[in-house]
Amino acid sequence: MPPTDSDAERAAAWAAARQDLDGLPGGGLNIAHEALDRHVRAGAGARIALHCVAADAPPETLTYGELTTRAARFAAVLDRLGVGRGEVVCSLLGRSPALFTVALGTVRAGAVFCPLFQVFGPDPIRTRVNRAEASVVVTTRALYERKLAALLADTPSVRFVLIAEDTTDAVADAGAVRVLALDCALGQASPDRPVTATRPEDPALLFFTSGTTGAPKGALHVHEAAVGQHATARAVLGLAAGERYWCTADPGWVTGTVYGIFAPLLAGATIIADREEFDAQRWATLLAAERIAVWYTAPTALRLLMRAEAGGGLTWPDALADLRVAASVGEPLGAAGVAWGRDRLGVAIRETWWQTETGAIMIHHPGDAAVPDGAMGRPIGGIQATVLAVGEDNRPVGGAAVGETGMLALKLPWPSLFRTYIGDEARYRACFHDGWYLTGDLARCDEAGVFWFIGRADDAIKSAGHLIGPFEVESCLLDHPAVGEVCVVGRPDPLIGLAVEAHIVVQAGYHADGELRRALLALARRRLGPAVAPRRIVFASALPKTGSGKILRRAVASSIRERADGPAGLPPR
Ligand code: ATP
Ligand code: MG
Repeated sequence: MPPTDSDAERAAAWAAARQDLDGLPGGGLNIAHEALDRHVRAGAGARIALHCVAADAPPETLTYGELTTRAARFAAVLDRLGVGRGEVVCSLLGRSPALFTVALGTVRAGAVFCPLFQVFGPDPIRTRVNRAEASVVVTTRALYERKLAALLADTPSVRFVLIAEDTTDAVADAGAVRVLALDCALGQASPDRPVTATRPEDPALLFFTSGTTGAPKGALHVHEAAVGQHATARAVLGLAAGERYWCTADPGWVTGTVYGIFAPLLAGATIIADREEFDAQRWATLLAAERIAVWYTAPTALRLLMRAEAGGGLTWPDALADLRVAASVGEPLGAAGVAWGRDRLGVAIRETWWQTETGAIMIHHPGDAAVPDGAMGRPIGGIQATVLAVGEDNRPVGGAAVGETGMLALKLPWPSLFRTYIGDEARYRACFHDGWYLTGDLARCDEAGVFWFIGRADDAIKSAGHLIGPFEVESCLLDHPAVGEVCVVGRPDPLIGLAVEAHIVVQAGYHADGELRRALLALARRRLGPAVAPRRIVFASALPKTGSGKILRRAVASSIRERADGPAGLPPR
């Protein structure tokens, strides 16, 4: 596959993108300066940065000027506590003004911001806090009392806990850990605390991966990532100054922080943040009521909306006149999802592909007819992607032919690429091969240079000598109106290694019966051919998911290995 541009051209593209940012004197760079102070200095201090809505409370609105002051105060709080550059501040917070204050203030101070998923139980919190060697955890009183307080004896690096959204200072210290009220501390801190003169290569953000394929990894990012965050916010999401933007991802994951906090502020947009969890009707109403222009969401949520709609329990506003761009990330959306968006939202939902490690969107569907529905799309400007043929151990053995499935790889370097997996340098090094970053995802590239997602290398099913990507099978089945959710895995089979098995949650209004099973098998065989089509269909009431809502194929696969129910119902082939 011929490269679309040369190393020199890509370097020039990133150098130009860097010029869109201020930088700090002497070649410094600080993400918080670029996200906040830069706009205030340019006279946009009165523009709304954050409009935070809730079901039972009035909205809270902060301008760019107000958020800059809050971030400065939080940086001053860290100074006062003696938390220095490079130390890690974890948040265990939902979308709230406090979250934005902490994220931006931490980075402003040259410390490292590490978001945690507030729905985590004590064990995942303890593991991540310890792996991050966090000095500070910021959370709410309820989460502190329910989850954190009991852990602090086992998190030796933590020196301070800050309690957000609580007006009293009456919090007892926990052993050696000082527990303080965030608002009191902010009130006493200087609003003029300047931005720390960080270098582009100084660490800024630490994200744990979703853990879809194994134990989560802690990917460390540097201030230079601002270049990629800003460029993609503009080029892929189409964000511009004052644009009303809603990112539905939880801030505990990379999307919810990079595209929920930093990237939109870098682009000068107005963030609409919803404090509530998913609710189909609330979301449909909010899109119109908040006049959302750019919406970044995920297939899990879109599928739930489709299901609520199919079940007749959802009323859409008359028109979504302001919506210009809808984009999706995290799992494949599939052609059916794109078509639904066109009908229902009036815009084609744009697929975007990236990972915690890549730090920003790398491949996207431009939302026009030049790229077929259901494709992942093309690399963004400044990125070269390829598909490498891999051997049994998933290591590259050369380039893949056009249309051939292999490992998706990205040519080094680019600004937002992670700089290490904390505590696992060997694993980090294993991600690279001969000038390429190996994504761990399988893809193919067609003759037009369009990339198609096939699956994760770890999820690939080797069946009777074929390498089958579960997603290809899943997207075919999703085209049947009865299929709400689907997960395709390999069932150990003495003859063919792994037999393709589809676990399906049936859409409301359809019956999970033999007739439907036969119809689905026939559809898959016709479209995919007998070698790739599932041999067995299992109807399920729900599928296991990660905290970020991704279907956990490995959990389904291991439940098969644990069950001893044999190949009952295996259809003849
Ligand atoms: P872990 O690395 O711990 O197994 P994870 O890979 O799910 O977890 P993330 O970095 O949050 O953690 O997710 C990135 C992965 O999500 C990608 O490697 C890819 O497999 C999947 N993904 C993201 N966007 C898309 C997309 N548009 N289409 C298909 N898959 C996607
Ligand atoms: Mg991953």
